[in-house]
Amino acid sequence: SAKTAGKGQWRRYKPELQTNLIERHKLQESLDATNVETSFAVRYQPIVELDTSNLVGFEALVRWPHSTRGVVLPEQFIALAEESGQIVPLGAWVLGQATSDAAGWRREGARRAHEDDMPPAPLYVSVNVSARQFRDAGFVDMARRALESSGIGPETLVLELTESVLMSRGDNVLECMKELTDLGIRIAIDDFGTGYSSLSYLREFPIKILKIDKSFIDGLGVSNQQYALIEGIVNIAETLGIAVIAEGIENTMQRDLLASMGCPLGQGYLFAQPMNSTDAESLVHSSQRLGLLPSETE
Ligand code: C2E
Ligand code: MG
Ligand code: MG
Ligand code: MG
Repeated sequence: SAKTAGKGQWRRYKPELQTNLIERHKLQESLDATNVETSFAVRYQPIVELDTSNLVGFEALVRWPHSTRGVVLPEQFIALAEESGQIVPLGAWVLGQATSDAAGWRREGARRAHEDDMPPAPLYVSVNVSARQFRDAGFVDMARRALESSGIGPETLVLELTESVLMSRGDNVLECMKELTDLGIRIAIDDFGTGYSSLSYLREFPIKILKIDKSFIDGLGVSNQQYALIEGIVNIAETLGIAVIAEGIENTMQRDLLASMGCPLGQGYLFAQPMNSTDAESLVHSSQRLGLLPSETE
């Protein structure tokens, strides 16, 4: 019958899609069953000054250590958490964790600086915010509370928004960004170049940091056009007083080309993989520059 043929066709042409949907459903169920406070972990990836390799801050990256699946990466569950709305409590938990870890690094950094008679390093923590989280009416209050309960100053916190977040909240985006900026929190544009990139919003929105997406960095040394494009972005940002971070630097050639065009900051496996809070704290304490670390620490 037509129905059977239809089913047969479905099985023949969409087996992967079907498996993915089932898998996705299972993952969603497993995610729904998690306790946000106890099920996730935050890893920190160093952000460095390109010409000195000095540490300037860390990006907080969430992980889901799963009982049967191993560590589930955000690309597999952030979208699901967005759909279910769980991203709101999850994002608040990540922010709470990141700000309290940053408070610990800063306390210890200040103590060491006092011993060495040096000014403490102004390290910051950078936290990813997704569209649904940013759209939540309580977002600014949640960020304010995270600062208050951790005791860190607002200059220690950066919030990373993607271009799609900027497009997603209409007129409220600017208002919400201004409230955050008024608190002294800095805003970074993440994955710059992958969305509806428009140079005009670098002027329209109070953006302090621009993160050039890894896909651009991958092409460095491969194509002259890519070099020119990145150099252009770096120059425009500098003119506007916006700091630039190159994401996903994996080799010294990329680092050297970026440094030569005046890109001030970078992040990538060349310097360090994401690490746990304890390792991040040790890194803050050793005034050592970053070298290649073998793999992400548990
Ligand atoms: P992102 O914010 O652009 O973060 C950078 C991603 O690139 C991270 O992947 C990081 O581990 C990876 N990365 C860094 N350096 C290198 C490199 O040299 N080579 C390669 N191949 N990869 C590198 P991760 O941790 O899997 O996170 C993926 C994305 O998930 C993030 O991209 C961000 O959009 C999202 N995400 C992570 N944590 C959170 C969170 O707490 N909240 C929200 N809303 N999104 C998050
Ligand atoms: Mg990010
Ligand atoms: Mg990024
Ligand atoms: Mg990315």
